[in-house]
Amino acid sequence: MSGSCPLCGLAVEAVATRCAACGYHLAGIDGRPGPLTRPALWWTTAGLAIVYVVTLLIVLAAR
Ligand SMILES: [Zn+2]
Repeated sequence: MSGSCPLCGLAVEAVATRCAACGYHLAGIDGRPGPLTRPALWWTTAGLAIVYVVTLLIVLAAR
């Protein structure tokens, strides 16, 4: 399983995670693991929720 770099079009090895020519990260291309794993997605959601709650508390406290 091999493909080509979407940025420069050069053929890349199946095991390569980055293009050798331009350094473009190949996550999510040709069956490679994507950049967003499930824990990363949950941590992002949790972070946004915490920021939302803190902002809400500040707004309520300012009244
Ligand atoms: Zn490239």
